[in-house]
Amino acid sequence: MDSYRCQKCRSVLFKSDSLLNCHGQWIDDKEDLKLQCTQSNLLFIGEQRLPDWIRQQIDDQDWTKGRITCNGKKCDARIGSFNFIGGVACSCKKVELPHIQIIRSKVDEPAHVIMQKQNSSNESQ
Ligand SMILES: [Zn+2]
Ligand SMILES: [Zn+2]
Repeated sequence: MDSYRCQKCRSVLFKSDSLLNCHGQWIDDKEDLKLQCTQSNLLFIGEQRLPDWIRQQIDDQDWTKGRITCNGKKCDARIGSFNFIGGVACSCKKVELPHIQIIRSKVDEPAHVIMQKQNSSNESQ
């Protein structure tokens, strides 16, 4: 299982099996990562596979909305947000984005995912 880490403090934040694509489907099969419409700056976490520390932050806000900050010791980097009140439509306008969003530039992704991103951006040129 691949780990995603805080870019600032290197704490492990979540594993790849917690990730959804922008249409709320589990990214167990890495091919599905290609379904990102244009939200390539965000990662999405599924409520059913929430890491405990993120669940705690959402519990603290009564499952309304708020920010997600890194759980690393002495690190308070904002790495994402959640919003269970109002949905945001995916850029394709067909579905709402998942409620728990991670800012991609705030986390270190596993090396093979970065490779895949580079490959797909080459193809589109
Ligand atoms: Zn951190
Ligand atoms: Zn979409």
